[in-house]
Amino acid sequence: MGLEFVYSQPVKIYFGAGKLKALELILEELGLRRCVAVCDPFLRPRLEELRQRIPAICGLYSDIQPNPQLSGAAALAALIREREADCVLAVGGGSTLDTAKFAAAMGGGEAPEYFRGQRAFSTEHIPVLTAPSTAGTGSEVTQVSVMSYGREKKTINHPAFMPKIAIVDPTLTLSVPPKTTMNTGLDALAHALEGFWSKNHQPISDQMARQAIRLVLDNLELAWQDGSNLEARTNMSLAALFGGLAFALPKTAGCHACSYPLSEDYGLPHGEACAFTLDSFVRLNADPRLEALCRELGLSGTEELARRIGAWKKLGGLRTRLSELGEVDLGKLARDSAAHPLMKNNPVALDEAALVRMYVALA
Ligand code: NAD
Repeated sequence: MGLEFVYSQPVKIYFGAGKLKALELILEELGLRRCVAVCDPFLRPRLEELRQRIPAICGLYSDIQPNPQLSGAAALAALIREREADCVLAVGGGSTLDTAKFAAAMGGGEAPEYFRGQRAFSTEHIPVLTAPSTAGTGSEVTQVSVMSYGREKKTINHPAFMPKIAIVDPTLTLSVPPKTTMNTGLDALAHALEGFWSKNHQPISDQMARQAIRLVLDNLELAWQDGSNLEARTNMSLAALFGGLAFALPKTAGCHACSYPLSEDYGLPHGEACAFTLDSFVRLNADPRLEALCRELGLSGTEELARRIGAWKKLGGLRTRLSELGEVDLGKLARDSAAHPLMKNNPVALDEAALVRMYVALA
């Protein structure tokens, strides 16, 4: 059969340094008058300021932690109802954006019912406007929300989570500390690579992946070295955006499947959990198509890409060995990784025994 695909990308994207300043105009253009804002705790003073300036902001919630808990989405949904909001603005990292997406898509039910799939999310809900303050998740352009309920962390993929607007203002990322710059940057790279090698990859997403990988190769280390380098930050925000578009339709694969038990059982932040096995997956998934991409991007091949990832992890102080994670239950780690639905998207079939071998090499 010849080439066939369906591509859709419904989010309106405003990109550029200082773009958050356009918020009032964007709200006016959409006729939105009652906006509940949700932000990362460190951004609260900035959002308080914005609230003084923009009367449409009628509520503010900022109790968000990394690997966000369902209770945050429930509290935000209650605030949205109480203030009779007509939109939600999320300013922060992926944890903040995902909380807003989940809260907006809840109808009248309890958050755990939605988390367990006992109630359907509503696609007819108030619009979500996103402004990422990290350059990693791409959540501003995906229909994904990753939430945790107790220790269970779940990726939920649903059309109801698609934001209406993404305001990508790289100046918001200038304050990201070096270690988070490295792990979020490697998350963006993981999205691009996994979108590229996913069994469901397709031509438009492939182009996004190419550009994202190129931008990470050229800018991640610069942004890590000097967080105030606006050009590198801008390029990393673009890489994260393209990375999001690269995986939004094809979905991620084996490396992300492994990241879930690594976050749930050993507490690794999402980007660090993806980075933990990303170089292993570059080696496991190496094929002529990936080799050709690496060479096109100026690398000698997949091995150089894997080595670069390994070197960035060390440079950024990210954990690279199982021995750094405390007492590890190797059998459970391999079992849970193999059982994760995203493992089915991996181009190379990997069963529990193959994953034990991969993890033993990372011992
Ligand atoms: P995060 O939102 O958890 O933030 C990480 C840390 O960085 C927090 O302590 C936060 O306060 C801090 N931070 C954020 N922006 C900052 C800034 N500008 N300056 C200083 N500190 C800042 O991290 P993240 O990597 O952006 O998001 C991770 C979450 O997103 C995970 O739950 C992950 O599973 C999820 N995720 C979602 C998608 C999606 O498509 N929805 C994709 C990938 C990951």
